[in-house]
Amino acid sequence: MSKQSRMKKKKEGYVPRAAQEQHFSKPKGSGEIKNGIFVYEGDITVDQLAKKLGLNPSEIVKSFFLKGKLLNINSVLDDELIAEICIEHGIDFQRKEIVDPSDFSKENIQDDPSTLVERPPVIVVMGHVDHGKTTLIDRIRHSRVAEGEAGGITQEIGAYQKEVKGKKITILDTPGHEAFTAMRARGAKIGDVAILVVAADDGVMPQTKEAVDHARAANLPIVVAVNKCDKPGANAEKVMSELAGINLTPEEWGGDTVCCKISAKSGKGIDELLDNVLTVAELLELKANPNRLAEGSVIDAQMDKREGAKATLLVRNGTLHIGDFLVVGNAYCKVRRMINEYGKPVKEAGPSTPVAVLGFSEVPTAGDIFRAFSTDKEAREIASQRQQKALNKNRSQGISLDTAFAQMNKDEGESTINLIVKSDTQGTSEALKDALNKLSVPSVNLKLIRCASGEVSEGDVVLAEASHASIITFNVHASALASALAKEKNIEIRHYDVIYHLTEDITKAMKGLLKPIFVEKVYGHGEVRAIFKSSKAGLIAGVYVTDGVLKSNSQVRIFRKEELVETSKLTSLKHVKDDIKEAKTKTECGLTIASNFKIEEEDTIECFGMEEERQDGW
Ligand code: GDP
Repeated sequence: MSKQSRMKKKKEGYVPRAAQEQHFSKPKGSGEIKNGIFVYEGDITVDQLAKKLGLNPSEIVKSFFLKGKLLNINSVLDDELIAEICIEHGIDFQRKEIVDPSDFSKENIQDDPSTLVERPPVIVVMGHVDHGKTTLIDRIRHSRVAEGEAGGITQEIGAYQKEVKGKKITILDTPGHEAFTAMRARGAKIGDVAILVVAADDGVMPQTKEAVDHARAANLPIVVAVNKCDKPGANAEKVMSELAGINLTPEEWGGDTVCCKISAKSGKGIDELLDNVLTVAELLELKANPNRLAEGSVIDAQMDKREGAKATLLVRNGTLHIGDFLVVGNAYCKVRRMINEYGKPVKEAGPSTPVAVLGFSEVPTAGDIFRAFSTDKEAREIASQRQQKALNKNRSQGISLDTAFAQMNKDEGESTINLIVKSDTQGTSEALKDALNKLSVPSVNLKLIRCASGEVSEGDVVLAEASHASIITFNVHASALASALAKEKNIEIRHYDVIYHLTEDITKAMKGLLKPIFVEKVYGHGEVRAIFKSSKAGLIAGVYVTDGVLKSNSQVRIFRKEELVETSKLTSLKHVKDDIKEAKTKTECGLTIASNFKIEEEDTIECFGMEEERQDGW
């Protein structure tokens, strides 16, 4: 802009842009009453709040003025002031959680239900070593080749899709619960149904139980594959009774666990197994919105000599396209090439589809969550925010008895505490399970992710990290490796040797979770016997306390001939000239209130406040 035109603009009343924004920009806050609660976000002004709550803004300004706080109707209210106004008017309030776009663990994308379509289930295969997980995965993969699919599924990609009765299922190629849980520890939500492989000639083994704990911790329904039924020593009945012993009672025994007798080697029973997996998955009503930017997890990654950093992504929701901009872990990537499980290039990958992606600046880690962005700029910004956060976060937050509870899963007002309990014998473990299951605190669930005998293993620590669980031991220690890992992950292991101390601590922690409930408490009443005028304080009521106490800073209701005429707040409480905190029964005091209401002789003052109440006598 030339000097002349600058002068001209000045004359015409031109206001620079920055100044315009300063004068006219509106605070970016909003709020509304939802289910009787005032839910707000951002900056709220006196005027905005008054409108939303149906109050008079000048009354708010006046009441704060009388309390010695200068506001105008455009003043931005802080949380404390909003709370004060809401409490004064008996309105519940809550600040809406500000969603951090760089925090992918918070599910902040809500899909409109009308956009959702069915998505294939993702299957994970777990079980004890040598029970036939790899053989089963290979068998399913190859059966597709036998069906005459062109090319055949390459093993490189780490997952594949298979059609069962015209419906797709996605099978993760990595057998074992360790890999699965390590991914979960990184925040990934992978898998919808678990196939638990148990060899019919070996039965339920320690890692079978571990796998069950991991699947349950991830809330996966379990379909059991009783494998190696072709072997001469196979005893499927024995396996079923052992399964019943770990709360997986087979359907044919009256329970609700689907158990299929198979031979991964010959392929017998596999079609039936997959049919059953599909039926279990259908009950989950898995849905996704294919018409939005993709999000999901890295399930495998490596450096390819020819093609550079390469990762298999499993799209959980949305559709991934060539040219999308991704933030993966802390890294950024532009999708240049995508390859499906047949090694063929594809242009897009929808929900539950595994796809190998090329174009990463560095090799991501399995379990990293990815999210696609529509612009390069947005993706770069989010990636840099995540990098910065990672730098600031020197140590993993870890889990201690206290912090585990802070990280509880909140579900419709219920809180869940996850625990891993290890003890010296199976008997103690059962006794602890009973004792812990008996603890009850309203709105708090105690979930025993694992309650078993034996020392704390590295697997326990990994499971604790992935499940946000605390580790409790009874008469056992942690292995040296587990202790070191727990230290590194900052996960507290608490040791006990008296059951009562253990249950007492857990109960205390459960109580700590209770959300405070505020209830109104009437402190006392007084009769107005005289009215004084003061040049400084305005009207002062001379009150005789008839019952209870009148407390300074509390709220008051004023009744005239038994009718409520005003609700306000005490601004001063004095005995003669001294400020007092309380005026007791049968004493006299002088008081002023926050509002301009004119108190008269013979009015009754009721003094009350909101107090925290612990539930059910806790
Ligand atoms: P993983 O450790 O659970 O992945 O077990 P593998 O799939 O590697 O299988 C362990 C061994 O059991 C291998 O020698 C397999 O050939 C064998 N095996 C797996 N499934 C069957 C089966 O159904 N029948 C028989 N007879 N052997 C099997």
